[in-house]
Amino acid sequence: MVKKELLYTGKAKKVYATDDPNLCIFEYKDDATAFNGLKKGSFEGKGVINNKMANFIFRLLEADGIKTHLKEELSDRETLVEKCEIVPLEIIVRNVAAGSFSKRFGVEEGTPLKNPTLEFSYKNDDLGDPMINTSQALAIGLATENEIKELSEMAFKVNESLKKIFLQIGIKLIDFKIEAGRTSDGRIVLADEISPDTCRLWDAETNKKLDKDRFRFDLGEFSDVYFEVWGRLKEYYGNN
Ligand code: ADP
Ligand code: UDP
Repeated sequence: MVKKELLYTGKAKKVYATDDPNLCIFEYKDDATAFNGLKKGSFEGKGVINNKMANFIFRLLEADGIKTHLKEELSDRETLVEKCEIVPLEIIVRNVAAGSFSKRFGVEEGTPLKNPTLEFSYKNDDLGDPMINTSQALAIGLATENEIKELSEMAFKVNESLKKIFLQIGIKLIDFKIEAGRTSDGRIVLADEISPDTCRLWDAETNKKLDKDRFRFDLGEFSDVYFEVWGRLKEYYGNN
């Protein structure tokens, strides 16, 4: 597979074209950002570990029947994926109140929710990724009614699988964000990444935060917890 021109430089990854118009290559960076890019940081090896973890998790989800864009891990930092048109919605599922949910609704962080919740944000950095409801998303043409239905079903299915995957390694899945892509032949697949950058993960015994909140709120041990999650995944589910 020939790596060709740089298509996009994001906050956590670079995306390259390949000689196949239906495939692109992710190159994970060591950078971390939070608060819509206002806070910046990094740690050595973050890109490697997120590349490996995201692919590992996507493989486990595929084994559970979830279709993803993943093709092949090419190197420590690089992965070949199916090139998609990303649906411009961040799809957020929550099991326990935290982050913006706690703030917006005045629900104390750590309160278990009676049912998993689903919400969408309009993926638009200039607007600060505002929360959007489905009739608004339909009204401005971000997705079709069928797509919204499919995204919602995918989100809850990913939640059930991910909850189990993490619980097996002593981790509670508090919330997470996913993205979905439209393939050239009209399928919807799980795209982007799932990693401690995109999930809130708490140790099941101690509630220790094992995710990007350690960076967001300067809690220390930022890199250690990423290695901790990766170590537990590898130990339990085997070395690829
Ligand atoms: P951001 O754009 O938020 O800074 P990243 O640094 O992770 O995020 O950049 C990766 C970009 O690639 C994102 O804009 C994401 O929506 C996009 N993307 C994810 N999966 C695919 C895919 N399969 N095909 C094309 N683009 C993708
Ligand atoms: N999230 C993400 N990218 C975003 C916004 C949120 O990966 O641009 C994840 C975040 O890590 C958390 C979940 O989505 O796991 C819910 O985030 P929340 O809405 O609470 O926003 P935040 O507190 O991150 O502003």
